[in-house]
Amino acid sequence: MAAFSSLTDRLSNAFKHLKSKGKLSETDIDGTIREIRRALLDADVALEVVRSFTARVRERALGTEVSQALNPAQQVVKIVDEELTDVLGAGVDRPLNFAKNPPTIIMLAGLQGAGKTTLAGKLGYWLKDSGHTPLLVAADLQRPNAVTQLQVVGERAGVPVYAPEKGVQSDGGDDVTVPGLTTGDPVKVARDSIALAKQKLYDTVIIDTAGRLGVDEELMQQARDIRDAVQPNEILFVIDAMIGQDAVKTAKAFDEGVDFTGVVLSKLDGDARGGAALSVASVTGKPILFASTGEGFKDFEVFHPDRMASRILD
Ligand code: GDP
Repeated sequence: MAAFSSLTDRLSNAFKHLKSKGKLSETDIDGTIREIRRALLDADVALEVVRSFTARVRERALGTEVSQALNPAQQVVKIVDEELTDVLGAGVDRPLNFAKNPPTIIMLAGLQGAGKTTLAGKLGYWLKDSGHTPLLVAADLQRPNAVTQLQVVGERAGVPVYAPEKGVQSDGGDDVTVPGLTTGDPVKVARDSIALAKQKLYDTVIIDTAGRLGVDEELMQQARDIRDAVQPNEILFVIDAMIGQDAVKTAKAFDEGVDFTGVVLSKLDGDARGGAALSVASVTGKPILFASTGEGFKDFEVFHPDRMASRILD
């Protein structure tokens, strides 16, 4: 995984020093823990997460776990693997919460540029591929061309898109047409889309919402208004794995703002330090459900904490 390649190298180096040891002393373990701590911090994993993670690994490594089958180095790797799985949100057994009575409503939230619109296409394609009948909904009426972008994404993925008509904007007394901008009430768009889904038997509705460059209260209120109007089964918080330490702050703000139900990590194919995204599940207590790994609508996977931990430690 490109976003974690440097972390993978650093962790593998940290374990290398243990390989020649027959039995590990406290000094050996502390040396390794120090290297793990540095590797995680350099990868941008949040300090609070690094602290509790390394404390748990240290405690377990010093503990009485004795295995006939594994040598000391393998035991430490196994502990790190299990604790990393835990940080990534072990214990989630669902990719999505489907409604008992369709449509299942999925709302996407996150900063502008996080990858929401792209994700809408990916999710739509994935759902369609597994026998569902999804509908994408353009409720981002803030950003010029956002509606058109979703329409393009939907067309590529072969998933229908519900969008308001291109509108005119009132500018003082005169109405002016703003190219690429669709005006209207995103809450009404979301509500109308559910009525349409019921009528046309779409079983999943994926609502793309507006994002700003930074967290702001107006954006949060709009997201809450949409949420309260349609009562989604899932609110997915999409986070760009490349945004570094801001990931934790942003995730906390969205968690307080809209109380999301799951996280989607996007741009895991990027080559920056993706560690901050690894902190999000632990900091918010919300599961990571999907990972986005490219710009194409098939660059997408269900997130499995244990598999991701193994890939990072590969
Ligand atoms: P939105 O503002 O949250 O709707 O974000 P977009 O879906 O428009 O994505 C912003 C930019 O990131 C676009 O250029 C996308 O092509 C790109 N993008 C989205 N997801 C990924 C991903 O997983 N990997 C890469 N490399 N680029 C992505």
